[in-house]
Amino acid sequence: MTYQYWNQKMETLPRPELEAYQLGALKTAVGQALRTPFYKERFGKAGISSADAIKSLADIRKIPFTTKHDLRDGFPYGFLSIPRDEVVRLHASSGTTGTPTTIYFNREDLSRWTSFVARSIYATGCNKADVFQNMITYGLFTGGLGFHAGGEEVGMLVIPSGSGNTTRQFKLMQDFGTTVVHATPSFLLHVESKMREEGVSRDSIKLRKAFAGAEPYSEDTRRRIEELLKIDVYNSYGLSEMNGPGVAFECQAKNGLHIWEDGYIAEIVDPDTLEPLPDGETGELVLTCLCREATPMLRYRTRDLSSFYTEPCACGRTHRRLHRITGRTDDMLIINGVNLFPSQIEEVIMSMKEVGNNYLIVVEKEGVLDRLTVKTEVGQDIFMDDARPLNALREKIRKTLQASITINPRVELHESGSLPVSEGKAKRVQDMRPKNA
Ligand code: ADP
Ligand code: ZN
Repeated sequence: MTYQYWNQKMETLPRPELEAYQLGALKTAVGQALRTPFYKERFGKAGISSADAIKSLADIRKIPFTTKHDLRDGFPYGFLSIPRDEVVRLHASSGTTGTPTTIYFNREDLSRWTSFVARSIYATGCNKADVFQNMITYGLFTGGLGFHAGGEEVGMLVIPSGSGNTTRQFKLMQDFGTTVVHATPSFLLHVESKMREEGVSRDSIKLRKAFAGAEPYSEDTRRRIEELLKIDVYNSYGLSEMNGPGVAFECQAKNGLHIWEDGYIAEIVDPDTLEPLPDGETGELVLTCLCREATPMLRYRTRDLSSFYTEPCACGRTHRRLHRITGRTDDMLIINGVNLFPSQIEEVIMSMKEVGNNYLIVVEKEGVLDRLTVKTEVGQDIFMDDARPLNALREKIRKTLQASITINPRVELHESGSLPVSEGKAKRVQDMRPKNA
């Protein structure tokens, strides 16, 4: 395979040079951070009074961590490092886990962000001949405008379709010959179900690639989308605190996500001790932004769980790769004392061919015990009025899940297309247990 690079020099920079670049950029970021009320105080306590405190990349460990909680405390302007009238845009997180947090950009910040998104898109083999339908929420969420600008930078024809309304999405795909889409993996699965339901033939659309991100998904889910829609799916990772999309992305080798290390410093730490973990071990991803002036963000605890690949990538890029994010530290459910990540359930059910494209996890209190129910849709060729095969399938899913998660779940089967679909990030878990119980 021949790999194409958007910025060959930076993407293939030898590690020593890349690290020298990071050190310079880290010092700049520390200097910039000292101009914000939040970091001035926080750094003061840690004995960091100027960028000179950083003499090597290892000195990053002198810098205190920043948490989502800090961002909320600093709302609205505690993290702003430039005069308000130089700010040209703001974005906010989706608020999946609480009050949204705000990030500010000046003009150069936006253009740097755009170039990282363009680099990511180009790494998947797209070019100006592509027609790109951005099937994601526009607005405060960074996935809309972020991908929009990156797509234009690559020179693709960008269709700002937004998410939802599958019938209109199909029409746009057919009318303009869409070749690439960006969406959440759950929306892509929904699109596929709807395509069959509405009788849209695969031959009537030219789709060949998708960027899927904004929520965790398993390798089996990727494969399922690829096989059903006959496209290549690339994993896209980003978060508003680090600008949005374009932080880490899969290249055409589709084996881990390159984190753009000239824009971000990545560390993997033990979420309990906060000590760095050896390469290859799974822990919490901590990110430092090297490419934004208006809102410095250093050693931000993402709460996302990942690990570094240790071997170099076939594509020749020198930027390290992250394993797909398996979930967030705060996603973890405790069911009768057993720890469970929703991704463990997804891994099991999405690998079963008879299971349809959507699922929901419900946790309730039954007396003193927790009760786990997994609701899944059935595949399109299974009839809901034939009880025998349904009972057999329910039992098969229950047994397979139990063997894998050591919890005995209740399994409910639902007709294809009947479980709720979210326009933004999928809401996979309904925890109905009383709080503080
Ligand atoms: P919020 O934190 O409120 O969801 P964001 O819109 O900033 O707001 O979302 C960023 C988060 O989305 C990440 O921290 C991560 O948990 C999740 N995410 C984004 N892309 C991916 C991906 N490719 N795989 C798994 N999770 C992802
Ligand atoms: Zn690669």
